[in-house]
Amino acid sequence: MNPNTLFNISYGLYVLTANLDGKDNGCIINTVTQVAIDPNQISIAVNKKNHTRDMIAASKKFTASIISQDATFELFKRFGFQSGRDVDKFAGFTATQRAASGALIINEGTNGYISGYVTQEIDLGTHSLFIASVTDMDILSSTPSATYTYYHQNIKPKPQAPAPSKTGKTIWRCKICGYEYEGDELPADFICPLCKHPASDFEKVN
Ligand code: FE
Repeated sequence: MNPNTLFNISYGLYVLTANLDGKDNGCIINTVTQVAIDPNQISIAVNKKNHTRDMIAASKKFTASIISQDATFELFKRFGFQSGRDVDKFAGFTATQRAASGALIINEGTNGYISGYVTQEIDLGTHSLFIASVTDMDILSSTPSATYTYYHQNIKPKPQAPAPSKTGKTIWRCKICGYEYEGDELPADFICPLCKHPASDFEKVN
């Protein structure tokens, strides 16, 4: 069985936002899918490590803004590589509008948004799967959507040759965000401190 087969699934990318008790938060996901029509329903799967997951479980509402090819790496760093438990991800970020759901719409680097009301939550262990009815949606621009492959090829900064390790140890680099870990062995249970991806998403670079 080749686990890399999963990389051949094509995914879009989304800023998933929620509002709870007056607080806004958001994270990046790649798992928005339309699953039914009449009425339109979508599913989203969210890692339980994401604070946004807890806010959606409590508020039952969210907005998924569809990331487009003009998105910057800054957008991914802001919403993907830090936790809303530690920082206000919307500090200094004004490219938003409030959706009827209460969850913010991202206006920059996106080409549309879909707001949903959660009708079912399914526990999948690492992730929660939410099924939602679409409550509002609109197109924001004509720029094509960014796929996960497009992100890796065009938005993520090209990796630099690693600086020689001062300690002579091996450098392991996160393929998702570029974080570098120094050590002879990467612990099997290592989680990237920036983007929360597991050790399987790291590669040896020297
Ligand atoms: Fe990472």
